[in-house]
Amino acid sequence: MENCIFCKIIQKEIPTSFIYEDDRMVAFKDINPQAPIHILLIPKEHYASLNDVPEDKKDILSHLLLKARQIALEQGISERGYRIVLNTARDSGQEVLHIHFHLLGGRRMNWPPG
Ligand code: AMP
Ligand code: ZN
Repeated sequence: MENCIFCKIIQKEIPTSFIYEDDRMVAFKDINPQAPIHILLIPKEHYASLNDVPEDKKDILSHLLLKARQIALEQGISERGYRIVLNTARDSGQEVLHIHFHLLGGRRMNWPPG
């Protein structure tokens, strides 16, 4: 998708060091971390948000989620705990319109979220 910053990251037009990459997704550090560990996981196919993932592409969601679990384990935050966030559309505060999971950890999280 033209003018999508995350598509540019996937195409390596914006140099970014990937924590993980396969044929369907990439994971990389958030540029403005909100926790000691703040990693974004995104599909290589462009969907603006969860609202836009077609029913027949739903497997990508479990793939992203289970990869977040694996990365949490590798980052050493699995046992202490972590938070996975999927902001969706305007009221959530979603800013980048390419679906992404946030994996946050390394500090105590607050609830309710802001
Ligand atoms: P959201 O508000 O859920 O859309 O989150 C977008 C996230 O993308 C924010 O946490 C930003 O800090 C992050 N972000 C934006 N541009 C980049 C970039 N070039 N590299 C890494 N993270 C980015
Ligand atoms: Zn995109």
